[in-house]
Amino acid sequence: MNKSTSGHKGDKPSEGKGGHRRQQTKPQKADTWSIDDFPVEPEEGKARFHDIGLRDELMHAIADLGFEYCSPIQATILPHTLQGHDAIGKAQTGTGKTAAFLITMFNDMLCHPLEGERFVGEPRGLVIAPTRELVMQIAADAVDLAKHTDLQVVTLIGGMDYQKQLNRLHNDVVDLVVATPGRLLDFMGRRDLYLDHIEVLVLDEADRMLDMGFIPQVKRIVRATPRKEDRQTLLFSATFTQDIINLSQQWTYEPVTIEIEPEHVATDSVDQKVFLVSSEQRFRILKNLLRGDDAESVIVFANRRDQVRRLHEKLRKSGVSCGMLSGEVPQNKRTRTLEQFKSGEVKVLVATDVAGRGIHVNGVSHVVNYNLPEDPEDYVHRIGRTGRAGASGTSISFASEDEAFLLPDIEKLLGDKLECTYPPQELLD
Ligand code: AMP
Repeated sequence: MNKSTSGHKGDKPSEGKGGHRRQQTKPQKADTWSIDDFPVEPEEGKARFHDIGLRDELMHAIADLGFEYCSPIQATILPHTLQGHDAIGKAQTGTGKTAAFLITMFNDMLCHPLEGERFVGEPRGLVIAPTRELVMQIAADAVDLAKHTDLQVVTLIGGMDYQKQLNRLHNDVVDLVVATPGRLLDFMGRRDLYLDHIEVLVLDEADRMLDMGFIPQVKRIVRATPRKEDRQTLLFSATFTQDIINLSQQWTYEPVTIEIEPEHVATDSVDQKVFLVSSEQRFRILKNLLRGDDAESVIVFANRRDQVRRLHEKLRKSGVSCGMLSGEVPQNKRTRTLEQFKSGEVKVLVATDVAGRGIHVNGVSHVVNYNLPEDPEDYVHRIGRTGRAGASGTSISFASEDEAFLLPDIEKLLGDKLECTYPPQELLD
């Protein structure tokens, strides 16, 4: 069945349960952008956002974010979910699942605007996630994707100012609520939020919600939304245990099931080197490495924004053509930097992990871990930036005396020992 969306619930005017009435008089944003400003060549084996029927406002935001092609989960799931189908996705963080469900929701809301009067406290979309951090990350992604629309996103999380969250709910017509289960129930219990107009419901990291004992709360929340035949439900989980499968069956209607394997742990196509270095040697070794003929296209990872900033500055001062990607760089600048890196205009990128996740560039010859990552998963993500698309690549990790303790956990995740060597003399000169 195609429940595709349309304002099935929104067609009838609301009775205004909370007594707060508000006309939807949001002005349309002027926008001179056109899809011609976002050229992406069709490429074999890759899906473009251009070809799946997304609204221009969303395409504009996708262009600003620097995404070009759909990630595998997006390419697989969007053709179904954009049609209004339910979906169950086995996918971990880092696969692009957040953008997949947000694009689904926003495209639907934009294609089917609700006519006439709307009321506060009656969102059209709801995302539930287990932790505050995750909710905040999802909401930040939502704000980025909705930035050329009038859609309003509200975050409801425990431990933060209740009154402020309440004011948002009272003052604005809200389109999307992103929440942790407990706080959401508080607002529902006090009759400040009603879920009977929900058109799309997303349950993110369902396995973690289960582990954290949230399922009874989530059940109450789901019961407050329209019947599963009358809403679209998208459920994501990193694992599919029997419990998760049972819950998915209860909550979804004829879903498509999609499994995206996590990035390969330690690809065979990456030659992984670990150099034992002292903190003082680090910069010299990096500079010498970058001078090498084979260092055609290099991403250097550091752990924090300030480290990235300082390293970028030092490299520039010593004449290396380099760009920087971190959360403190404005998005349009990041997009430009990434383009310069892709085109070869800039040979070296210095990046944090978060910014580095968005780098999908073929032909990266080297990844340098200027610092070892604190989270072993980040090591895998980092080295996965090279050795892509059948090419081979080299990763060089600096293990200094104060960071080498991070190695055993990385090796545990890799299931392999990493050989540590002293750097060759030519890199020390
Ligand atoms: P997630 O799995 O939702 O945590 O997303 C992981 C990261 O991938 C986020 O930093 C997104 O901004 C980024 N991302 C999502 N979709 C794409 C895409 N199609 N192209 C490039 N980066 C993406």
